[in-house]
Amino acid sequence: MGRYEFTIFNFTSKTLYIARYFTPDGFVDINNITIEGVPLNLSKLDRYRYEIINGSGIEFYAVNVSTNLTKLQGVATYEVRYKKNWKLFYSLGENITIGTDFSFWDLASNSGGYRIVVTPKLPKGTLYVISGYGTVENGSTVVYGVDSGVQHLSISTVMVWMPNLERVDFTLGSMNFTVYLPSWVISDEGIEALKSKLNLALSVYGNLTGIEKPTERLFIIFHSQFWKFSQETLGYTARGINYFSTIILPFRNDLPTTLDYYQLNLFHEFAHEWFGHYAGFGLFVETPTQFLMLEAYSRSVSQTYFYDQYLDEVEKQVVSIKNFTYIETITGKYDNFSDPRLYSQEAWYIRYFKGPYILRSLRFLVGDQKFGEIFHTLLEECHGSYCEYRDFIRISEKVYGDDLSWFFDEWFNTTEVPDYNVTVLNITQVENTYNLTLTITDASNFTMPVPVRIYLENGEYVDERVWVNGTATVSLELPDKPVKIVIDPEEAIANVNREFSVNGVVVKVD
Ligand SMILES: [Zn+2]
Repeated sequence: MGRYEFTIFNFTSKTLYIARYFTPDGFVDINNITIEGVPLNLSKLDRYRYEIINGSGIEFYAVNVSTNLTKLQGVATYEVRYKKNWKLFYSLGENITIGTDFSFWDLASNSGGYRIVVTPKLPKGTLYVISGYGTVENGSTVVYGVDSGVQHLSISTVMVWMPNLERVDFTLGSMNFTVYLPSWVISDEGIEALKSKLNLALSVYGNLTGIEKPTERLFIIFHSQFWKFSQETLGYTARGINYFSTIILPFRNDLPTTLDYYQLNLFHEFAHEWFGHYAGFGLFVETPTQFLMLEAYSRSVSQTYFYDQYLDEVEKQVVSIKNFTYIETITGKYDNFSDPRLYSQEAWYIRYFKGPYILRSLRFLVGDQKFGEIFHTLLEECHGSYCEYRDFIRISEKVYGDDLSWFFDEWFNTTEVPDYNVTVLNITQVENTYNLTLTITDASNFTMPVPVRIYLENGEYVDERVWVNGTATVSLELPDKPVKIVIDPEEAIANVNREFSVNGVVVKVD
């Protein structure tokens, strides 16, 4: 049950429209609206119904305003029933991106635009999250209007209830953070640990995208009953939720423990402020988001753990799933968003992990600098408009300066991955140098630049880049005797892994 006190400024005497969303069994019940003490009887007003999907949509009520007043004060009480309707509400949100938090008000306004000031009364321990705006506390004021940043926003709004809710505010770089968490766990140690994770992600994401501040303020809610909250609002158990400017994450014991368990969740949801909030990309959005997450994670844990355990395990899964091409896992949006195949465990894995692996390959192909330029151009071009994966391909080709359809074809449209082997390996010594001749074959016939690291007897290594187009033979002159060869040492390619030896030299395909 919510209560809304609102003041409308700058309206004209033309018709005022109040709109609300409807679903078959009622998403929002407006119990009562009064304006200047006069109750509005919605059932007696002219009503326009616009059905969007499955018996749900938006309806407009026409209110004729005739008054000498320059501002109108009103109160609305309403009830929101999330549980039954949330999925439907979400699919509505995919189709319309207008509305304030519980309804959409369209005002005929004088120049300068309309303005509605709302002061919600909320139960103790309750926060109100407005997508794209942030978190609203009991008694605080939200200004809706053309110039206030809250207008015609997406419609997802949630109430968050948590006992003993406390807030902590701080600034990192030029971004302001507000963190909500249970009061009994606030400790300097915990807050410092959180700041250090956020600082790491801020600098990694800022460097990779050239965008240091995707949003002015970020609200982070560590929810002590996150799984229950997620079930009730989304209908499934999420790992974290990003409402654009507000992220909600699971919480465990205390903040340091929470960050140990859920830093990937934090890195992921934070990355959605760049890919998601700053610019939207449909289901493709999870791919650059996971890419950023992996970059932050790789700097937050030990290199050995990241490359030899975490990414190896991810790669094994990506390589073994053969029932979805990558493109099939991101293109349900317009034709059939509710296709359950999109939400199977395998499709999820391909979207969330093969996707970022493909971006790692693209980065290796085009080089760090051009890759950064692709991310930057993508975010700048798509900021304020809607993009999808085709825009990513288009911008990648533009920045690279050449056709990349061969690359995207093999990675997006097949379930194959490269399967490298070394078939010939010869070493000859000429005075103080060594000549290495190497033939790499790929049973899957990909065209890829392949990173090859050659370890020498003196403990050093040499990095080479070999274009393999089904097969490739290279000859290298080395300052010392090669003892071990690692193909793809830094996991730029999702490929079949194996280890063997040829002519006494250990070869590891990583
Ligand atoms: Zn996500």
